[in-house]
Amino acid sequence: MIKFDRVSKLYDDRTKAVDQLDLHIQDNEFFVLIGPSGCGKTTTLKMINRLIDASDGTILIEDKKITDYDIHELRWNIGYVLQQIALFPHMTIAENIAIVPELKKWSRKKVHDRVDELLDMVGLDPAVYRDRKPGELSGGQQQRIGVARALAADPRIILMDEPFSALDPISREKLQNDMLHLKRTINKTIVFVTHDIREAFKLGDRICIMKEGRALQVGTPDEILQGPATPFVREFVGAHKQEEGIDLEAIILPLDGSGALHCIPADASLSEVLDILSKHERVLVEKAGIPIGQIDRRTIIEYMASHMDERGRENE
Ligand code: ADP
Repeated sequence: MIKFDRVSKLYDDRTKAVDQLDLHIQDNEFFVLIGPSGCGKTTTLKMINRLIDASDGTILIEDKKITDYDIHELRWNIGYVLQQIALFPHMTIAENIAIVPELKKWSRKKVHDRVDELLDMVGLDPAVYRDRKPGELSGGQQQRIGVARALAADPRIILMDEPFSALDPISREKLQNDMLHLKRTINKTIVFVTHDIREAFKLGDRICIMKEGRALQVGTPDEILQGPATPFVREFVGAHKQEEGIDLEAIILPLDGSGALHCIPADASLSEVLDILSKHERVLVEKAGIPIGQIDRRTIIEYMASHMDERGRENE
């Protein structure tokens, strides 16, 4: 879908923001770029829709070089959501969402129906919100409009640059949960920048950990937790905490009679749990020889995500 082939970006002042980056982002994948501030995440993202041009290497979308696309066509077919969404203050919410469909000259009826559909999709009642002005919405609601606007003309690709990081923790969590739901219901390739490792593990199908313009590791949350490629990655994702204990009883799922064959004791360490779950989708948890519940990969990844520090912030 999106391919980076030895892509570099050297800014005019000789800052090397991205250094020979190779990436293969799959169709319909939720792909997260994460790393400390200044590691090149935003530059990487903006090179995809050519807000920034690469100095070297090639970026392909569906096997065609991005420089061979008409620039307007390229931008209209890539949704873009920023940290502080810039809604036009004098336009209504409906008009703000409809910008790209209008540019594409959709019919009035099609635009109207699409706006209502999108407002519903992001959890805002069209009857209440379509005629409001951005100033009448909370920060979280404005970000939802930003997501709706990016989806408006049904682009195949959505780029999201720290879209939730300016929100209070409750709104952020709510939008993350909505995003999880949305990613299951819409078929989009999403490239998402964050410096919050919990957000990355919660949302990402695959995660690319960047440092100094390079990709240190690309993999699923399980792969990265179980096999951090470098000491930096290990530290960054908190994998060094795996030797610590884990309160399995607090997170086990009820037994459902589906007969998982492998067992671990309830007092197993996190690394033991990760080790067995790398081989089996789920396992039974037993206490004094009696099964008390079961645990699966998803539960343990969510547990890891919720117990991590916001590591990126520490590096700022
Ligand atoms: P991140 O998104 O990971 O914080 P950026 O891609 O914004 O990183 O920046 C990568 C590096 O490039 C940083 O050192 C940053 O200071 C530098 N940089 C970003 N934009 C410019 C620019 N327009 N001119 C010069 N240097 C820049």
